[in-house]
Amino acid sequence: MNILVTGGAGYIGSHAVQRLLRDGHTVVAIDDLSLGHREAIDALTDHAGDRLVFEKASVGETTRLETLMGDHDIDTVFHFAAFASVGESVAEPLRYYRNNIAEGIGLLEACNHAGVGRFVFSSSCATYGEPADEHIPIRENCPKNPVSPYGQTKLDFERILEAWAEARRNADEPVAVTMLRYFNVAGCDRTGILGEDHDPETHLIPVALEAALGKRDGMAIFGTDYPTPDGTAVRDYVHVEDLIDAHVRAMEHMQRNGASTPKAYNIGIGNGHSVREVIDSVRRVSSVDFPVRDEPRRSGDPARLYADSNLVTRDLGWKAQITDLDAIVDSAWQWMQRHPNGYEAT
Ligand code: UDP
Repeated sequence: MNILVTGGAGYIGSHAVQRLLRDGHTVVAIDDLSLGHREAIDALTDHAGDRLVFEKASVGETTRLETLMGDHDIDTVFHFAAFASVGESVAEPLRYYRNNIAEGIGLLEACNHAGVGRFVFSSSCATYGEPADEHIPIRENCPKNPVSPYGQTKLDFERILEAWAEARRNADEPVAVTMLRYFNVAGCDRTGILGEDHDPETHLIPVALEAALGKRDGMAIFGTDYPTPDGTAVRDYVHVEDLIDAHVRAMEHMQRNGASTPKAYNIGIGNGHSVREVIDSVRRVSSVDFPVRDEPRRSGDPARLYADSNLVTRDLGWKAQITDLDAIVDSAWQWMQRHPNGYEAT
């Protein structure tokens, strides 16, 4: 198949490009390179021959994307490009709405013009906000009350996709949409080509690994008074390769089944690890003890978020394969040791 991957030079998008190329597909990757890394694409180009095309472009460039889709006979879009930092979205909501919503609409307009109706969207468990205890583990029908502009943009774009799909269906145009609500995506490609390189880094596993590497003076635990067994927040860490496998399964399912109403699925391993458990894992994997200090909760951080992924198992046959926390951490540790300065030094 011929797939347009938006955000193809980013952490998750580049892993999607890698998997699609490995499966023999043709990929057009776009990225405005505001957060993505050209080096990630370069690393993949060596293995791709002419099956990978990269264009520095933003998802809002409708005319350009329409041309790209037409020229490369695109049949499916994987839409990863987005701003994804909760704290930043609180400080700069307009930037988030413009990028995640307005630009995304530009992409859907390009799809309309080019006649592309198969779409996989990177949504988020942030759409659920802070679920009440009775909704843990979280199922797809859990009430959605995002507590950040970031989570709201993801929920809003789901609604936009539903309206878009209905309009296309009513106009007898082919359409199939899958929305994947990611829990905490972690780890790296285990062949060591791709990694996670954010600036600044705020995510727990890479922050702890940077502390182990001596790149930072220890780290903070945000909140030790949560109603959880050890007082720290619990999250569902899903390996990036498993996450991408869900996208591939969604694409194949939509190809087999033709037009369908949009479906949303939770993508997580189905159980949670506390911040302290993650830090212990990083210490075990790296064999480095680093200082950890207790700090107050980060605003908007729920106590527990982990997925009930039974729906995606039932419909797409997807289940996380890499469920051992140390294995997830180790994949990230391997890359970070070889790339202590991220892609910069590759
Ligand atoms: N966290 C922490 N110290 C850090 C970074 C994160 O204690 O330096 C906590 C954070 O408060 C949350 C969990 O680790 O409870 C996962 O945070 P992350 O930013 O990785 O993902 P999020 O769940 O916010 O999407």
